[in-house]
Amino acid sequence: MSPSTPVTATSPVAIVTGGARGIGLAIGQWFLDRGHRIALLDIDQQTLERSVAAFDRPDAVLAVHADVRDPRQVAAGVAQVVAKFGRIDKLVNNAGIAVFKPVMQTSYAEFRDVLTTNLDGAFLCTQACVPEMIKAGGGAIVNIASISGLRASTLRVAYGTSKAALLHLTKQLAVELGDVGIRVNAICPGPVETEMAKLVHSVAIRSDYHDAIPLGRYGTPEEMANTVGFLCSSDASFINGQFLAVDGGFDAAG
Ligand code: NDP
Repeated sequence: MSPSTPVTATSPVAIVTGGARGIGLAIGQWFLDRGHRIALLDIDQQTLERSVAAFDRPDAVLAVHADVRDPRQVAAGVAQVVAKFGRIDKLVNNAGIAVFKPVMQTSYAEFRDVLTTNLDGAFLCTQACVPEMIKAGGGAIVNIASISGLRASTLRVAYGTSKAALLHLTKQLAVELGDVGIRVNAICPGPVETEMAKLVHSVAIRSDYHDAIPLGRYGTPEEMANTVGFLCSSDASFINGQFLAVDGGFDAAG
C-alpha cells in the first residue's frame, strides 16, 4: 500500500499500543497514511483522546483506553477494536516505560513494573490479538525493543533486561506463529526524541549517545515508524523472527 491509499470499510486494521504519543503515534500515522484503520491503545486517556481527536477520522481511528499490564483491560480493548472494525491484521507492541538507575538503587517494585509493562504487556496483547489475526488470514506483529536489549550498559538493569526478554519473546512467537501466517519481528531503536527520552536521558547520556552514534544525532519517531511499517508490509513477507537496529549505526560501531 502506498501513501494516501484511501481507507475503506474493508481496509486492514493495525493496533498500536502506547499509541497516544511519541513513537506509537507516529506508527499509527504511518498505517493511516497507507490505507489502514488504526486503533491506538494507551493508558494515558487524556493524551490518547487529544491525539485521536486531532486525526478527525472517526471512520478510521479508534481510541482504546487500556493498561497493557492488565489481561482484562487488554481483552476488553481488543474486543472494542473488533466491534468497531471487524478484524485485526497488525499489532505493534510499543507501550513501554523506562527506569534508568543503578542496580542497587532500583527497587524491586520498579524492576517488576518495567518488566510487566515492557514484556508481559507484549505477551498479553499478542495472546489477545492472535485469534483475530488468524481469522483475518494471518498478519504481522512488531515488538518495539531497544538497543538496550542488544547490549548491556549502566543504569539499564530493568529496562535492558525487559527489552532483551522482549527480543527473545519475538523469536519464540515467530517460531510458533509462522504456520498460521503471522510474522513476528522487532526493531531496536537507538535514542529517539520523545517524552520518554526527556524523562530518562540526562545531559551525560545525551552526550554519550552523540559521541557513539556514527550519524551523530537522535532518531525521529517517523524513522521508527517507517521501519515498523516496512516490517509489517508485504515487502517484508519472508522476514520473520528478526531484530532490526534503527540506531544510526550505534550497535555496529560497537
Ligand atoms: P513515550 O513515553 O513517549 O510513549 C509511550 C506511551 O506508552 C505513553 O503514552 C505511555 O503512557 C504509554 N504506556 C506506558 N505504560 C503503558 C501501559 N501499561 N499500558 C498502555 N500504555 C502505556 O515513549 P516512546 O514513544 O519514546 O517509546 C515507545 C517505545 O519505544 C517504548 O517501548 C520504548 O521503550 C521504546 N524505545 C524508545 C526509545 C527512545 O529513545 N524514546 C529508544 C528505544 C526504545 P504514560 O505516559 O501514561 O506512561
